[in-house]
Amino acid sequence: MGPRFATPLLDYLAPREGAVPPVGGRVSVPLGKGRRAGFVLEHLDGSEVPAERLRPVLDVLDAQPLWDPATLELLRWAANYYCHPLGQVLAYAMPQQLRRGGKVPAAPVRWRGRNKALGDAPGLLARAPRQREVLEALLAAGRRGLAEEALAALAPGWRRIVRTLEDKGLAEAFEPGAAGLADMLREAPFALSAEQSAAVNAMRLDQGYACHLLDGVTASGKTEVYLRLAEKVLASHRQCLLLAPEIGLTPQLAGRLMARFRVPAAVLHSGLNAGERLRAWADARSGRARLVVGTRSAVFTPCPELGLIVVDEEHDPSYKQQDGFRYQARDLAVMRASSAGIPVVLGSATPALESLLNVRRGRYAHWRLTKKVAGTRPPLARLVDLNQHPPKGGLSAPLVRAMSAQLDSGSQVLLYLNRRGFAPVLMCADCRRAEECSHCDARLVFYRRRDLLICHHCGAFRRPPPGCGNCGGPLQSIGRGTERLEEELQARFPDYPVARMDRDNVRGRRRLEHILGGIRERRYRILLGTQMLTKGHDFPGLGLVGVIDADQGMFSQEFRGPERLAQTLVQVAGRAGRREQPGLLVLQTRFPEHPLLRQLLKEGYAGFADAALDLRRSTGWPPFAHLAVLRASAPEAASVRAFLIDAKDSAPQAGGFAVEALGPAPALMERRRDRNHARLLLRSSSRAALQEFLRRWIPAVRALKRPRRVTWSVDVDPAEIG
Ligand code: ADP
Ligand code: ZN
Repeated sequence: MGPRFATPLLDYLAPREGAVPPVGGRVSVPLGKGRRAGFVLEHLDGSEVPAERLRPVLDVLDAQPLWDPATLELLRWAANYYCHPLGQVLAYAMPQQLRRGGKVPAAPVRWRGRNKALGDAPGLLARAPRQREVLEALLAAGRRGLAEEALAALAPGWRRIVRTLEDKGLAEAFEPGAAGLADMLREAPFALSAEQSAAVNAMRLDQGYACHLLDGVTASGKTEVYLRLAEKVLASHRQCLLLAPEIGLTPQLAGRLMARFRVPAAVLHSGLNAGERLRAWADARSGRARLVVGTRSAVFTPCPELGLIVVDEEHDPSYKQQDGFRYQARDLAVMRASSAGIPVVLGSATPALESLLNVRRGRYAHWRLTKKVAGTRPPLARLVDLNQHPPKGGLSAPLVRAMSAQLDSGSQVLLYLNRRGFAPVLMCADCRRAEECSHCDARLVFYRRRDLLICHHCGAFRRPPPGCGNCGGPLQSIGRGTERLEEELQARFPDYPVARMDRDNVRGRRRLEHILGGIRERRYRILLGTQMLTKGHDFPGLGLVGVIDADQGMFSQEFRGPERLAQTLVQVAGRAGRREQPGLLVLQTRFPEHPLLRQLLKEGYAGFADAALDLRRSTGWPPFAHLAVLRASAPEAASVRAFLIDAKDSAPQAGGFAVEALGPAPALMERRRDRNHARLLLRSSSRAALQEFLRRWIPAVRALKRPRRVTWSVDVDPAEIG
């Protein structure tokens, strides 16, 4: 392990010799008896620490700042806003290899022969055949020269050889620049639709900050709008930063960009190894990469010439980091754009209620793409009341009929069930006791093929017992997960191969690509999956989408529960619809009169969102209120509670903060991983008041005496209360 970063703010003298280390660069400093790595955050004229106690910086690790001033400012802002130590935020925002003390790699260079070499070389190199060979290759490559990798393949020890050629004035290194930009922008193969061009033309890229919500149904051509905007940004010699919610979708978006633009790009996601990640980051930072694509943490990538930010699927929950440094990347993207004075585009088929409220309030411009590009109509939706059509093996008769018709006509069918395993509950038929996790307040999920009971919260697993531990009665599996439905489907439709996509069956990108390939080639006819299936993938052969249990999540205790459910249902439904004909959507429910389902069917997502916003307003939840959660846990309940009560008592009273502190209350899942979890909820109608409150309160909480076993965290703008 390399150096760990010190988190407190400390004063040091500039190093005894050499240049003053830049703000935003790493240094190594003495701390106590040891040495630690740190960042230079400010140059001060004086210090409150007495001069005799100030020690000088030992080493300067970066001659240049790691971040341009604007990105560094964003990081500072985020640390402050999300109440997280700045040192940890900076360490989080840089590639692992730099965290371990590594160097920022220099921009890659290419080598080419110099003109004079043509005349002089033969004489000069008569006795140096290896130099001669390399020079000939360089000359043969012309003005574009050769990349270092090509030279490495050509001649071992090439570095020394080209340096010698350079000394003799026969070769030179150069940085491949953005020369010949016109050449790098390929033309789009089609004209924009009226709705698309209205949006593209109205989004001015040269008039400072503006936030645009691009609200377009699935396959309405949102990505095409991003591409056209990126083209303008590239042509004006600026960089473009695009965020996608998942690693699975990042290469897809990157692929579409690369197919359109021949410019250097940096793709950042968690599937890269440390070296690739550092390289991509350094390319963005040096300005070499003109397109920067990545998942949520890419919002912190330094881009010195940024001209546009795009956040695709802006409603997606994965933009919120749920542990450690808890931040919302979409919100930070808007913040970054506003301080950089550039436009930002948020795209979604199901915009977050926050974004829609900003539209209502006139802060965001609203662009709608209402039609699918291919001209297919939205899917025909049908609710199936499971009370009237009791399901067999999870499928009601109307769903089976619709499936058979589609499959027989050659279409593919997608079934959505967001529950993994064979059955969510294994229960005694006599005394009704369910098998539970011994570390969590949770039932164990039964996996029949592996003959295991697994806890989805802590990962604990064990063999199912032969009978009930309480009364010895027989155990039966209740309910159904994807593993069970897969078996049932194979039994019922033996002629149609089933692709199951969930985290148990699809681990890693390779396997995902493999299954997606099989679906595209129609080797699979029935696709069964969890959330994993709903995101972004385009399945052109799909005629029917069936939602096995539309009620799942309907009774969530989280305030965002209905919003998430509506987004999921609309996103799943968006997969349906082949080019030639409208798709079918079948929703199985036990609550066909539920207002959420009624609204979605009658008025679509927009109608749902309007009503949901009104409800949030009248009940005082975000985005009409602003929240923070202080969560704590310990092996036993008493110390968690005592800590949270102390924390509540230390809340600033003076100044009349309009902030309510609610709790302590036990977490929704009180016992998890052998720890007891509880929380305080802070709520205010004013974001500024809540921030002011946190500014004073969190330092007081940090200073509290607490038993060592109590750990705590603060979550500003939480996605869930928990
Ligand atoms: P979204 O991002 O909204 O899901 P895409 O941008 O991926 O939609 O567009 C869906 C499909 O339609 C893509 O294959 C895309 O290449 C194509 N497409 C987009 N805009 C047009 C257009 N104006 N004319 C023809 N095809 C288009
Ligand atoms: Zn558990």
